Amino acid sequence: MKIDRIRLIVQFFLFIFFVYGGLLSLSIGNAIPTMTCIYVDSRGGFCFLYPFQRYLSVPLNVLFKGTIIGFGIYLGTFAIWAFVFNKSWCGWACPLGFLQDLLTKLREALNIDVSRFEWITRYRFSSVKYILLVLLILIPIGISNSFFGSPRLPGDLAVPFCQICPGKPLLPLFNGDFSNVKIDFSNSVTIVMTVLSMGIAGLFLAGSFFKRRFMCAYCPMAAMLSIFDKFGLISLKKQGSKCTRCGNCLRACPMDIVEIAQEKEKVNMVTQDCILCMRCIEVCPENDALRATFCGKTIFRSTAQGFLKRQQAIAKKMNKEKTEL
Ligand code: SF4
Ligand code: SF4
Ligand code: SF4
Repeated sequence: MKIDRIRLIVQFFLFIFFVYGGLLSLSIGNAIPTMTCIYVDSRGGFCFLYPFQRYLSVPLNVLFKGTIIGFGIYLGTFAIWAFVFNKSWCGWACPLGFLQDLLTKLREALNIDVSRFEWITRYRFSSVKYILLVLLILIPIGISNSFFGSPRLPGDLAVPFCQICPGKPLLPLFNGDFSNVKIDFSNSVTIVMTVLSMGIAGLFLAGSFFKRRFMCAYCPMAAMLSIFDKFGLISLKKQGSKCTRCGNCLRACPMDIVEIAQEKEKVNMVTQDCILCMRCIEVCPENDALRATFCGKTIFRSTAQGFLKRQQAIAKKMNKEKTEL
């Protein structure tokens, strides 16, 4: 079976778990390094970013009122999850990643061509996710807590990133909850934040339809997970001497990562944008040029035979379609 199909099945079951797991009282905690949204009432666990911002919005409590132990355990739990699964959280588990992949499937079914960013455009905007990460740390510390003398923000606004994350309006919809799809006219701040939220959710849907994994290049969770790129237990390795630079991997890569085809020296190919989807390995025609490893052991590798088999399957499918026409 194609790795893409296996991945879609895994994504589907994890989506069901993360969105409906709570109905069976299932949960894997509140430090999950992927967008499993707290605003979904029936969730099976929730995203690291919500409690992270909440803790930061009360820094004095964290430092002086004993909350620091809870905060430490919470950070440690996140680190373990990220260390073990690395960016495969993005490729295989994230509900927002799954929605983006479904939109890609829909576009493909409608025979609409994919849009690609020029690499230089992608490169120019690569810092956006780090800027968002810095803001989601500084705003709760600085504004929500009056730490720098600014006014304290009420309730949900102490978690500013969650107010603009597309997960908040979109994921509860799967639970029949439409309460986050509206403009909140309570005060000027809520009006601005909810208008932003609606706009970003619309951009997420439109962008992900035309561009594969549109949001992932700008996601602050990807910036956090990047800390583990080099030493996560699951990894993507390249043997440059076996690469012919055919470019198959780059064409298949949903994140348009140029290095995967061009790199000759570097072994670890988990770059800041890689989501460990393993598509590049599947389409590479050279034996062992690309490998996925777990604890250093190969779990999936590129093979000429696998490549030929897939080519034959594609040719067969095309012939069948021609005869049907
Ligand atoms: S980078 Fe994409 S897949 Fe990863 S957490 Fe963010 S939205 Fe989800
Ligand atoms: S598909 Fe394999 S051989 Fe071709 S450029 Fe990528 S790594 Fe090199
Ligand atoms: S480099 Fe390979 S594993 Fe990483 S995102 Fe691209 S195709 Fe997926």
